[in-house]
Amino acid sequence: MLDLPLMSDPEQRATMNVLTALIGAAQFTDLNLFHLIIIRMVALSLEHGNIEGSCLAYAVLGSVPSFYPDQSQAGFRVGKMALDLVERHGFDRIRGMAYYGFTLFTAHWTQPLATCQGLFRRAFEAARDVGDLTIASFARVDLVTNLLATGEALDAVEREAKSALAFVQSVGFGLIGDVIVTQLGLIRTLRGQTPNLGSFDDEEFRESDFEQHLEGDARLAIAASRYWIRKLQAKVHAGDYAAAVEAASKSASLLWTLPAQQELPEYHFYAALAWAGHCDSTVAEERHQALQELRAHKGQIAVWSQNGPENFANRAALLGAELARLEGREDEAMRLYEQAVRLAREQSFIHTEALANELAARFWAARGFETVAHAYLRDARYGYLRWGADGKVRQLERLYPDLKHEQPTPAPTSTITAPVEHLDLATVIEVSQAISSEMILEKLVDRLMRLAVEHAGAERGLLISPNGEELQIDAEATAYGKDLAVHVGQHRASNAAALPESLVRYAMRTRDTVILDDASSQHPFSADTYIVQHRARSILGLPLINQGKSIGILYLENTLMPHVFTPDRVTVLKVLASQAAIALENSRLYRDLAESERSLRSAIDGIPGLVAILAPNGEVEAVNLQIIEYCGRSLEELRNWGTDGTVHHEDLPRLAEIFTRSMAAGVPYQIEQRLRRFDGEYRWFENRGIPIRDDAGRIARWYILLTDIEDRTQALARLQQMQSDFARMNRVGIMGELAASLSHEITQPIASARNNARAALNFMDKQPPDLSEVREALGGVVGDTDRAGDIIGRIRDQVRKAPPRKDYVDLNTAISEVIALARSSIVSSGVQVRTRFADGLPPVHADRVQIQQVMLNLILNAAEAMGSMKEGARELSISTEQDRTGALVTVRDSGPGIQPAQLERVFDAFYTTKSLGTGMGLSICRSIVAAHGGRLWAEENEPHGAVFKFTVPGHEAGS
Ligand code: ADP
Repeated sequence: MLDLPLMSDPEQRATMNVLTALIGAAQFTDLNLFHLIIIRMVALSLEHGNIEGSCLAYAVLGSVPSFYPDQSQAGFRVGKMALDLVERHGFDRIRGMAYYGFTLFTAHWTQPLATCQGLFRRAFEAARDVGDLTIASFARVDLVTNLLATGEALDAVEREAKSALAFVQSVGFGLIGDVIVTQLGLIRTLRGQTPNLGSFDDEEFRESDFEQHLEGDARLAIAASRYWIRKLQAKVHAGDYAAAVEAASKSASLLWTLPAQQELPEYHFYAALAWAGHCDSTVAEERHQALQELRAHKGQIAVWSQNGPENFANRAALLGAELARLEGREDEAMRLYEQAVRLAREQSFIHTEALANELAARFWAARGFETVAHAYLRDARYGYLRWGADGKVRQLERLYPDLKHEQPTPAPTSTITAPVEHLDLATVIEVSQAISSEMILEKLVDRLMRLAVEHAGAERGLLISPNGEELQIDAEATAYGKDLAVHVGQHRASNAAALPESLVRYAMRTRDTVILDDASSQHPFSADTYIVQHRARSILGLPLINQGKSIGILYLENTLMPHVFTPDRVTVLKVLASQAAIALENSRLYRDLAESERSLRSAIDGIPGLVAILAPNGEVEAVNLQIIEYCGRSLEELRNWGTDGTVHHEDLPRLAEIFTRSMAAGVPYQIEQRLRRFDGEYRWFENRGIPIRDDAGRIARWYILLTDIEDRTQALARLQQMQSDFARMNRVGIMGELAASLSHEITQPIASARNNARAALNFMDKQPPDLSEVREALGGVVGDTDRAGDIIGRIRDQVRKAPPRKDYVDLNTAISEVIALARSSIVSSGVQVRTRFADGLPPVHADRVQIQQVMLNLILNAAEAMGSMKEGARELSISTEQDRTGALVTVRDSGPGIQPAQLERVFDAFYTTKSLGTGMGLSICRSIVAAHGGRLWAEENEPHGAVFKFTVPGHEAGS
């Protein structure tokens, strides 16, 4: 399959793409359809070659063999091939999906369960990188499912679940959120965070509400199946088998949502345990059915165990033990319990190990073997403790009060019980003094390690602190004969070669001191890789506790001698540890402070503005580099900013006043002021100050940010100038101006025309009429009207002011400025503006202000025309394009438009349809455009509205 050619037939490719798109939907609605699609995709790929979707089909197909006996690696090989195909062909788009499908359906049946964690993370990253947030979200939640199945420490699983929840919520994937909520329910009840073990109910969560939510929506089947399985597990742990059986049957009806997922074996395993537990308390008739159920579930686990013994053999053994117990095969049961415990330990399934111990204890106790039962119970408690299932630990302690005082295993391990009289006072005082005098973290740690290693007679010492979920080694001390080398510096202790992780994590979690007097004999950490490999004899893990918080572990070991860490030594070490914890925390805080000062500095230097930090009394404490460079003055010199002209003298009184006022009131301020540049030029700045308060609410500092607004100020001034230019266009203004000019100048030619006309009439009335006089008088009328026409032309010229002052103008910018200026009229008319500016439009040779006047008039006319409409979209689109001779500007509106007969008339002077109109706007616009050598005309817009277009010749043509 790997060597098949790539699918080339377009029709088959299209079919595959459609099927690929359907996979997800089918999986959530109809399992048969899902299988059908996968098989069809595989068949098409075999016949026509591979395509991206083929990888998904193979990844899922790999799950099939796991359900048949003796197919240990077949499925894995098919699924793995899917990944190889993705990598070989660089199918980036579906890489996340393929990894996810492979891990979810195939890998976990045969590969060690924990290896799936890396695969899910890979799937998440690949999906996230291509924006496939659905798969990314699923990968997060299934990682949590995996952590639960592998028995990872529950506090870590809870952290992962919460972070996954935050992620899926951030991408708005509610359904997955519901799934995570069910996981958190189980985690929290096991951790003892809900009032009753086995119930998810607490202040924040109500099972009944959640169940109602799930039942109310068939689309939530995916969340519902997971919920009932988690509940089944919780009830089994609580020992409430009737409820567990009920949860199992609810899950059974929803199993179609989990064709081959990790939850499936969880379901069968816990359902089997539920029925086994139920057997003990039920009547004879039901017992038969319960046993049948147990056998069926066990049979399923047994098949999986054949194909993936590393994951399932421990569970198969435990179910075998339970069945043997119920069927009265006691010898076999005994052997199988022990085998389950051993396998679970070897395969690092802490939770199953604990459970197997608990059930074995029950088996022995029921037969009166108290001592044996007790030994199993002790290990069960210890296992649950390591898992972090504090709720379960408390349940055991309640049922078996003696357990509480037990240590996990006999002799080799013990916590410290050294009496006070063993205390070597001199050492304690020496240690105490040495440590408390050191503030520098590195020196303190060096000192601490030396004292600890020397005093305890260790060969190697580590200072370990938690860093998120990782363990971090902060310091390492190694003794070479009499010499001692201490290395202080942080590195991640991710590999098991550096330290006994299980022991350190145990000490960290339980805050118990762990001492192994002779690590070569049997003890709870015997399986720890580090301990196995390093053959350490004496081991000590000492938690450093400060104010109830575990801040690290002091780890000491001696590979040569057992019983090195004697109680008196350990007691001194404990004092040392408690001192060190405080000192460490203090000096870490101190270092963090110093670091935050440093990072503050680099942060303020990185701000693209001038920043100053002032003391509460207004004194300059620090400034950033930008201020020093702008002013050309040092921090020292800048302290006198109030008196040395740094601030413009006209702005100083205003600044001083607002500054004093807001300092006194402790409120932020904002003011504009001029600041002198190094070359003596003053530029305008916006000065904003905010007070920063300490924990007690007192002002600790003022942060001042100065932003250069000189360019903005100038632009504003230009806009204001433009606005005053445009004020000439103001209709009332023009009316007034016109009225004044007209009444003043035009009365005279009109009066004269009237006189001439009257005279003509008189000469006409004469008998016979004096036609030569009439002609002369009418000639006078013509002359008068011509004069009136001239006056109007002059007034028009006056309105359009001076002759054009031409320059090279970028039309797009000039038009954008006008749109900004007209924004308020546009907005108040409810108009949407769209612009389409031609890229790289060459500059035109024009009078910028006049062209802007034209634009403003066209825009305001359009806004006004559309504003009068009762309904319909109000769209104004403005575009520029390159024309043969220069630029073409189009202003298109969706208003009532102009009648075809009026398209020319609107340019006539005094033509207006508005009650307050002057009818001069378009006439002036046309003469301005004409004066530039261009043309302005109107057209009808489709389906309605008006279009005004004008051309402006390019600078060669126009100049
Ligand atoms: P005014 O706006 O003072 O009336 P104009 O010369 O600017 O003077 O416009 C003349 C007339 O042209 C307007 O009264 C109006 O009837 C018509 N007109 C101008 N622009 C538009 C437009 N975008 N849509 C419809 N009619 C318009």
